Amino acid sequence: MAYRLLIDGELVDGASTLDVINSATGAVFETCACADEAQLEQAIAAAKRAFPAWASLTHGARRDYLNHLADAVQARSDEFCTLITREQGKPLAVSRIEFDMSVGLLRWFAEQDLPLETIRQADEGRVLEQRTPLGVVATITPWNFPLQQLTLKVAPCLSVGNTMVAKPASTTPLTAALFGELAAGILPPGVFNVIIDAHHLGDRITSHPDIAMVAFTGSTPTGRRVMGSGAGTLKRLTLELGGNDAAIVLDDVDAREIAPKVFQAAMINSGQVCLAAKRIYAPRPLYDALCDELARLAREAVVGDGLEPETQIGPLQNRQQYEKVLEIIEEARSLGNVIAGGNALNREGYFIAPTIVRDLPDSARLVREEQFGPAIPVLAYDTIEEMIERVNDSEYGLGGTIWTNDAERGLEVALRIQSGTIWVNKLVELPPDLPFGGVKQSGIGRESGLEGMKEFTQAKIINLANKVAA
Ligand code: NAD
Repeated sequence: MAYRLLIDGELVDGASTLDVINSATGAVFETCACADEAQLEQAIAAAKRAFPAWASLTHGARRDYLNHLADAVQARSDEFCTLITREQGKPLAVSRIEFDMSVGLLRWFAEQDLPLETIRQADEGRVLEQRTPLGVVATITPWNFPLQQLTLKVAPCLSVGNTMVAKPASTTPLTAALFGELAAGILPPGVFNVIIDAHHLGDRITSHPDIAMVAFTGSTPTGRRVMGSGAGTLKRLTLELGGNDAAIVLDDVDAREIAPKVFQAAMINSGQVCLAAKRIYAPRPLYDALCDELARLAREAVVGDGLEPETQIGPLQNRQQYEKVLEIIEEARSLGNVIAGGNALNREGYFIAPTIVRDLPDSARLVREEQFGPAIPVLAYDTIEEMIERVNDSEYGLGGTIWTNDAERGLEVALRIQSGTIWVNKLVELPPDLPFGGVKQSGIGRESGLEGMKEFTQAKIINLANKVAA
């Protein structure tokens, strides 16, 4: 079998197999290993055994391992990009962006260190802070960016001295298996393990007594289950969850100039991005013009198999997501006006035409829920005050974008939006050095940056006097 599990340094077949579907055809295109509970136990035990030696390496030694891994991944770039497109569906050019981000993450975190810090210094002594690794960390990742989501966790987690068990999403396991294959030839046995499941091992991972932390990215409902399941062993958790980001257009911009940027922020990866613009707020004087432009862009976008070079928008990743988005569109059709798309494409695979809906009430599912697909509501507002209140009236708070030619006005609005990140006049930008994460039910904790790296450690305070007091 080509795509295997990685347990204790060995690539092994699973207790069973898992079919992987190409979302552009809806047909099985590959089969990979699928673990049972005994194999999960072996992986956790291996990670536990490997931890003391890995944690006691110098940071420089771990940096060299990670850079070596980055080199090996880089050397297989074409294979990774094609595989991401085949199992995830995104256009090859977007897989390339994902791939470059992933290698960048491995290299950036390889270089970062969290050395012993002096936090107080006096004649009679000092206070130091040591950041120590936690032990075995489990990572559970979603299907929208299978390689970037994995490396975003692997790189900081291993760099600070933890060992890992990685569980990719069951519908996109191949990229992680290929990554595991390369890691097998580079990292010491047990340091990094890959366990692939068919949605049946999550609960065992998140409740396991030998797992110190779960770094989870996925939907808010699953995040709640992870938190509940981890309570029994007081797991350390990072939860990077869903979002319903607003794209806010202020009244000083030209609707025609802004529309392509808003469209791109909404439709990248067919809208299957936690930070995609998922509801668009336009000032009433610009509303008709912006709706018309977005509808034109939606009609003109080339939808197709991500492997075809002209494709701009690929399929939905899996049948469940495809059906959910179609259901949300149906409700929107009954409450508002669908001005572009609104239907599945009449072909194999999970394709939905890019959809723009106007005149919806705020209570519509397309406005309130995370649709995670190529269907976008455009909403009119009359005052900044009212718009901010409507934007913040959400259980989510992940990101958001503001478009204005007056940066100070943009900043004033940004300061009042409840979210983990706000971009003003920028498309989603995620460099490795900026911490990222959600507020409210979009998550707990941060990824990226030194703040994200610290999540994989705990602080130990050493309070030291130079002499025993007389
Ligand atoms: P999901 O919640 O269905 O699955 C995520 C992962 O959890 C998968 O690996 C899945 O197998 C696993 N899982 C399922 N049930 C589990 C359980 N009971 N215990 C433990 N693990 C379990 O999410 P998805 O549909 O794969 O991904 C889409 C979601 O991810 C969207 O909501 C999106 O916004 C979110 N997301 C968030 C971020 C972020 O950084 N905040 C980034 C990417 C995606």
